[in-house]
Amino acid sequence: MCFENNINSHKLIHRIKLSFTYCYLLKCHGGYLLIDTSYPDYFMKFIKGIDRLGIDIKDIKWLLLTHHHDDHAGFAAELIKKAGCRVIAHRNAIEPLQLGESEDTIVPVNRRVKFVFSLFTLTHQQFKFPPVILGENDVILDGDNFDLLKQIGIDGKIIYTPGHSRDSISVILSDGMAFVGDVAMNFLRFTGIKHRPIYIEDINTVYDSWEKLIAQGAKMIYPAHGKPFPVSELIR
Ligand SMILES: [Zn+2]
Ligand SMILES: [Zn+2]
Repeated sequence: MCFENNINSHKLIHRIKLSFTYCYLLKCHGGYLLIDTSYPDYFMKFIKGIDRLGIDIKDIKWLLLTHHHDDHAGFAAELIKKAGCRVIAHRNAIEPLQLGESEDTIVPVNRRVKFVFSLFTLTHQQFKFPPVILGENDVILDGDNFDLLKQIGIDGKIIYTPGHSRDSISVILSDGMAFVGDVAMNFLRFTGIKHRPIYIEDINTVYDSWEKLIAQGAKMIYPAHGKPFPVSELIR
């Protein structure tokens, strides 16, 4: 369920799988930065997951949302309340987070995905989640940010990577580990997505974001859905 990965002598990264979503915990000053939550019902499973790693809820100092979708921001409101953590998100996430609803601007990347998800959405509760109201302590990004992570003890940067959604951001560490949310996936390979997101706003914007990730030093992609893979597999 979890793995530990030494990226250098003093930093640790943990991964927790909650339903379809992988959340990542990165060691930072005074605790951890969490990249994404999962669906709304997975908070208790998350608590069990961090407990096994010896991490307390109060150790989570930051929550970075790669974007606002319900499988990423699902239990963010509960986590923020219990952990007292600060949020990092893109400006375009403010409104849908406040509404507690995934924006309906995305379409299936191909017909096979459309078919598979027509079955899934019958049982899925309309992509809603408890609203997340961002405050003055939170960090709202307008684009790339090369300083914030360094200031909190993480040797990396935040890159704006739209295409899956207009609020998508990614984290790239100095050694090339890239946490990309949903702008690339390693998931439902039988649908022929070839690492593209299953749902997209615009495919060319996705490809531009892939090129940007590579240009900014990404070497290994850690998607929110599926196992890590090398950037050489990102082919337009
Ligand atoms: Zn998404
Ligand atoms: Zn997702």
